[in-house]
Amino acid sequence: MSDQDVIHRFIFDNTDIRGEILSLHKTKLESGENQSTPKALLPVFGDFLSGACLLSEVLKFEGILSLQASGDGPVSMIMAEANNQGHVRGIIKLSEEDAHKALDEDFFSKATLPELLGKTSLIITIDPDKGQRYQGIVPIEEPSLAKCLEHYFYQSEQLPTQVHLFSNEEHCGGLFLQCLPAQLVTDNDEREKHWDTARALASTCTEEELFTLSHQELLLRLFHDMQCRLFEPKALSFKCSCSEARCLNALKALGQQEVYKLLAEHDLIQMDCQFCATPYAFGKENVDALFNGDTDESVLH
Ligand SMILES: [Zn+2]
Repeated sequence: MSDQDVIHRFIFDNTDIRGEILSLHKTKLESGENQSTPKALLPVFGDFLSGACLLSEVLKFEGILSLQASGDGPVSMIMAEANNQGHVRGIIKLSEEDAHKALDEDFFSKATLPELLGKTSLIITIDPDKGQRYQGIVPIEEPSLAKCLEHYFYQSEQLPTQVHLFSNEEHCGGLFLQCLPAQLVTDNDEREKHWDTARALASTCTEEELFTLSHQELLLRLFHDMQCRLFEPKALSFKCSCSEARCLNALKALGQQEVYKLLAEHDLIQMDCQFCATPYAFGKENVDALFNGDTDESVLH
């Protein structure tokens, strides 16, 4: 029986190599439900969801990690975020340019990440509950998100890292390996041998294995001679953090003049959450209260 909607951390005894393995099913379906993109784009959307969960777990902090890329390609934007409680959500949007409208499922299913997004960069944002927000930027030059993330780890931590992401319409997940600085093994040749072996074995992992076997079974199959030890799993689920208060906050940020202009044009300001499609609507009463200070400020922050 396969593991679903969980991430496991693992280590290999007597080496400095650590790993993560995750599989998403319900989380993937629910996150994609409100995205009106061609089915052939669900796998790349899945890669972003898995990537956000992996990084959030690897970087271990309390707060939100997001992966985002916007460009002038046929896909104008993809983003996914995950927090330390295992809540995941994402958005994928097609470009409205006429030039891209004739593209079909066949194109989307074969396109590389740069072909989908155009010339752009991946922005990795680490937004801790306490402390400074941090952003890392990696140019999207590699064909896949997995390769971009390997590039990010090489650039930011100088640690050899391997990322495999797998995704189809219904499932997504991944396998992550990283060689940490010398602690248990100090002999360089031995360290290199461990890393080369782990890396080569991980590369044999297939999508079918990840989506049909339990994580324990799969790791045993891949790394049977390496004494792999799994830690307790962490549950992952689709959960949106939108709320009326957050929408009002966004309106406040737009400014009084702009918001009254919108109200004059539409009578009711309607905002549908792009992650979960929850509809929000605000009338004159709400807008007056927002800008006349009648709204409880504490609710807004
Ligand atoms: Zn929402």
